[in-house]
Amino acid sequence: MNDTIEQLAELGPDAKILAGGQSLVAMMNFRLARPSALVDITRVAGLDYLERDVSGLRIGALTRHRTVETTKIDGFRVLSKAARWIGHYPIRCRGTFGGSLAHGDSTAEWCILAVLLDAVIVLQGPAGKREVAAEQFFHGFFMTAAEPDEMIVEVRFPKPAPHAALTEFSQRQGDFAIVAASARLDLAENEVLTSKIVLGGVAEKPKIVEIDLAGRPATEETWRAAGETAAAQVNPPSDGHGSGEYRKKLTATLVARALAEAAA
Ligand SMILES: Cc1cc2nc3c(=O)[nH]c(=O)nc-3n(C[C@H](O)[C@H](O)[C@H](O)COP(=O)(O)OP(=O)(O)OC[C@H]3O[C@@H](n4cnc5c(N)ncnc54)[C@H](O)[C@@H]3O)c2cc1C
Repeated sequence: MNDTIEQLAELGPDAKILAGGQSLVAMMNFRLARPSALVDITRVAGLDYLERDVSGLRIGALTRHRTVETTKIDGFRVLSKAARWIGHYPIRCRGTFGGSLAHGDSTAEWCILAVLLDAVIVLQGPAGKREVAAEQFFHGFFMTAAEPDEMIVEVRFPKPAPHAALTEFSQRQGDFAIVAASARLDLAENEVLTSKIVLGGVAEKPKIVEIDLAGRPATEETWRAAGETAAAQVNPPSDGHGSGEYRKKLTATLVARALAEAAA
């Protein structure tokens, strides 16, 4: 790992880390990225793990999407379920958890869930390690808090979220989501204690919906109303995949679905 940091510092800010290559190579093919050098981290030891600790979960940066999909961890089932939305099987076998966060696509399942579950991203650079809360990590379209000479080494999820779900809509299976919605609830009896909703595909980075469902009944009506509130808070862009208005409607539907799934 230290070799990687040394090489990044030596090669300068135009060098890039190559992990699964599932985003970077495509960008290089389209000439959207022209790195001066690639530092291949795929064989760096000790970065491929999912580990429960006393309170939460730690995921090594080189853990493949497929590993997350096939490792069902109590309290974190939302991760294995959400992995199925990522691309196709070969992409999930190569793409990495850290690579997805570093790429910083606002529709990426791991970016959305990192914000939803209050994850902390551990970066290592020449000055050592530092931790950045996921809510502060994403700065905009493909822009994050990571410096060019830093590498994501680990992602920490502080506590289990048994009532959490992510759902999305895309035109074809395996495509990036047009809109994705995720929700996390704490429930007592049939009432909401706390809630958090995070959206993808409606802004430059994962968007937290400003809503507090505490004290509301855990019913379809509450979920539907929350969907409408979420839709009213977004002003998504239009593009070839759908208009902003269409994305707003998707937001309402998907938020209601995510909340119902999280509560179930
Ligand atoms: C057809 C297709 C469909 C896809 N669909 C989805 C989808 O639905 N959802 C989804 O989330 N993703 C999707 N992806 C992207 C996929 O999940 C990628 O695996 C992921 O975005 C990047 O991970 P990677 O390991 O391949 O990183 P790479 O492509 O190797 O790198 C991506 C970027 O992150 C940097 N980087 C990589 N690792 C680190 C690190 N540890 N520290 C710092 N910087 C790092 C690289 O320098 C580069 O800038 C799709 C890809 C394809 C080709």
